[in-house]
Amino acid sequence: MELFGKTLGRGDKTSFRFGVASFPDGSPISLEVKIIVGVNEGPTVTLLGVQHGDEYNGMEVVNRLMGSLKPGDLTGTVIGIPVSNPLAFNTGMRVTPPSVGYENLNLNRVWPGNPKGLLMERIAASIWENAIVGTDYVIDLHEGGRAFMARYIHARGTQETDRLVGDEIRRLCRFFGQGIPILGGVRTRSHMMGSLSIQAGLRGIPCIGPELGGGSRIWPEFVETGVQGVRNIMIGLDMIQGEPVGSEMEQITAPESSWPKTDMGGVMYNRCELGDIVEEGELLGVLKDTTGSLLEEVKAPYRSVILDTRYIPTVYPGDWTFHCGKIV
Ligand SMILES: [Zn+2]
Repeated sequence: MELFGKTLGRGDKTSFRFGVASFPDGSPISLEVKIIVGVNEGPTVTLLGVQHGDEYNGMEVVNRLMGSLKPGDLTGTVIGIPVSNPLAFNTGMRVTPPSVGYENLNLNRVWPGNPKGLLMERIAASIWENAIVGTDYVIDLHEGGRAFMARYIHARGTQETDRLVGDEIRRLCRFFGQGIPILGGVRTRSHMMGSLSIQAGLRGIPCIGPELGGGSRIWPEFVETGVQGVRNIMIGLDMIQGEPVGSEMEQITAPESSWPKTDMGGVMYNRCELGDIVEEGELLGVLKDTTGSLLEEVKAPYRSVILDTRYIPTVYPGDWTFHCGKIV
């Protein structure tokens, strides 16, 4: 088979750097790519880490998983890109800095990219052409980034993607298992139309986004959950042998979610934890000023499972606080 311009055969396990653009001084902008072609024919799964440059656990999930897979035990093909946006990653920022890319800087808003477009659109187009088109499943690993902690699977679609791949996405989420809540439902916000999950879905390729960890550090327990979740999916797809872990644990599916906001800036004191089930009106956090005086209380808008919490406590008015997945 032909992948990233390379001819690969059954049983191959390889890694290489793939040029996607260049810096002004001519040095290459490239991605590390890992590919394992199983000895048996089967589906292709693409794993992406670090679409957002301050989200590190996905990189480790990709590396751990690719390191543990043997071509002789594999049915199908796995493509792994540990760091999908090296420009954001190298500067420790969620999106590419303006000095580098000018605009359209969030990689997960410019899919499917444009080979003749702006820098991030070109990088997206390169990944799209080589690792998304022709693949059967995409697992796009995210997390809370610098300011948040997250623990759920992002599996939202539009009406059209839900029609095309909704059942497959729900199946992947169930395979992932381990009691990880699912944010499902159908979205209408147009600024998310450039996300990989939507654009892949529109082409009939199911893409889920596990959101595990945050706070700009690598958490062994979240990495372990991610590795096991992907392994569970591969077992479910008959790509590897084994017993799935945590498939019996109940997963809540939230059909919608919201982030209560504060009207003032201040310092957030969390009163909830990831995975908590909270009732409508229940206290999630208290906002204080820098002298410790209470400014506002943040309460759950409805019965919810907590999907994200603050990691960095300083908030501006209108900032996201706690991500509430509605329980119906
Ligand atoms: Zn992200």
